[in-house]
Amino acid sequence: MICNHCTYAWQTRVASPKSCPRCKRRFDYQEAKIVLRRLSKQFGYRLTGDIDG
Ligand SMILES: [Zn+2]
Repeated sequence: MICNHCTYAWQTRVASPKSCPRCKRRFDYQEAKIVLRRLSKQFGYRLTGDIDG
């Protein structure tokens, strides 16, 4: 998972974490998906396969 507020990346055991463990901000999932996909290309972060679209 990558936080769309602070770009902190961490391993999560749940499909949709509700907040960032670093900055504690809550996520907007639609926006988070877009940012996550963008960051995944930038950082080579391996997605877990639960991102549709
Ligand atoms: Zn964060």
